[in-house]
Amino acid sequence: MISEQECIFCKIVRGEIPSKKIYEDHDVIAFLDINPANPGHCLVVPKKHSETISDTDDEVLEKAIVVTKKLATVVKEKLNADGVNIVQNNGRHAGQLVSHIHFHIIPRFPDDKVLITYQRVQMDENALNEMQKKLTEEGKKESRSDWDMRF
Ligand SMILES: [Zn+2]
Repeated sequence: MISEQECIFCKIVRGEIPSKKIYEDHDVIAFLDINPANPGHCLVVPKKHSETISDTDDEVLEKAIVVTKKLATVVKEKLNADGVNIVQNNGRHAGQLVSHIHFHIIPRFPDDKVLITYQRVQMDENALNEMQKKLTEEGKKESRSDWDMRF
């Protein structure tokens, strides 16, 4: 766990580290990734420090995803990109390098060198059923809905 004092994104939010700012409002900031996957790669960062999506307030997430949507549209149009990846990593083994929640906006072009990939694992019908059971309330319901998401 890293403190807000030491967090590199909190330092950017406080203006202690310079950034190539693209967007800023009361709750959210967006700036260019200094080590981009492609030119135009931006990071959308809630100003309030939290580490992963699970410990970020819903209201903060809502604001951040709307900024992500709008900025992704701007990036795609202004850079004449073929497409845009939105990437959000949680945890070191998921590729999260900075322990402050952020969304990557990565413009994509034909024949670029960006790799966002994973290998697929095989699961048979039984294994899929077991997984469904595990992720629902022990199989009592077909699926979760937004009002019965309890962990
Ligand atoms: Zn932070």
